[in-house]
Amino acid sequence: MIIKKRGISGTFAGLASLVSRISESDEMFKRIKSDYKNCRAGFAGELRVDNFLEELELKMPYYVLQNLTIKVGKKRVQIDTILIHPNFILVIEIKNMRGEFYFDPVNKHFYRLNDEGKKEGMRNPEAQLSRSTTIIDSFLRDKGIEMSAKGLIVFVSRAGIVMQASEKWKTIPLDSLVEYIELLEDQTKRVVPSETCKRLALELLAEDRPEKLVSIVDYYNVSVDKVKKGVRCPGCNYIPMLRKHSRWCCGKCGEESRDAHLNTLQEYRLLFGPEITSRSAIDFMQHNSIYFAIRVLTNNAEIKKVKARYRLFQINDEKHLLSEFIREELKK
Ligand SMILES: [Zn+2]
Repeated sequence: MIIKKRGISGTFAGLASLVSRISESDEMFKRIKSDYKNCRAGFAGELRVDNFLEELELKMPYYVLQNLTIKVGKKRVQIDTILIHPNFILVIEIKNMRGEFYFDPVNKHFYRLNDEGKKEGMRNPEAQLSRSTTIIDSFLRDKGIEMSAKGLIVFVSRAGIVMQASEKWKTIPLDSLVEYIELLEDQTKRVVPSETCKRLALELLAEDRPEKLVSIVDYYNVSVDKVKKGVRCPGCNYIPMLRKHSRWCCGKCGEESRDAHLNTLQEYRLLFGPEITSRSAIDFMQHNSIYFAIRVLTNNAEIKKVKARYRLFQINDEKHLLSEFIREELKK
């Protein structure tokens, strides 16, 4: 049973929006595009693991939390996937990269060999997994549960080959994931009752801290006037749509929409942060009526401050409105 579904990655959605709204000649474009590609691979890999886990047939009930961020004491960690079963707790670290990979047991380096045969060092998933399992173990101790978490590194891409495996954690390709977990159930004995598993899953869910929203434009230090404004066409992603007779019309594909501005408002939230004034809303949507902006924000955001002719709103988190945009981005 899935206790927490992954949802759309705000970081990825923000990067996808930004990369399509700045000029290729911008000095930050290259870096943003590269981060966007890495983030897309990571998120796509996580979704593939989610799909594979749907095939899992275990004898006992189990609980899955996807994209869990918890803090125990002063330590905070983001876990790609955690599976809680009466016999074991499995923390899964997902890697979706191409190349030949090496876990160096002596220096604790993780690297791949590039096309020229040179070592390219990368963030070590072993270290990430050690941190995650340590934090989960201390959570278990706090709850009086005598279990310790197992770690698993899953390589999603068939073009990602592990030449030297981790000595610390089991490393497997995605194709073996379901079989590995089914075997693990057969080869292990029950440690806690099923009710304890469920309680633990719900307690972890209660500790989940949502992804912290950072203004991606601030993060990359892109000036506001470099970001292309306008409502995005839900049909072909063209920016900007034009407002005609209470509808948004796309000059490229002819699509018409009554509410495409709501998706664009979600993009604004990821690009600039959740706070918005009615002025900045009409400016970003390229609309000419302040009353339209006030109406839209009143219905889709919380009022934070009202002063004479100034109103500050906070846009609600409705990233699901970007689902179609993200689906298209993942196909690229
Ligand atoms: Zn269009």
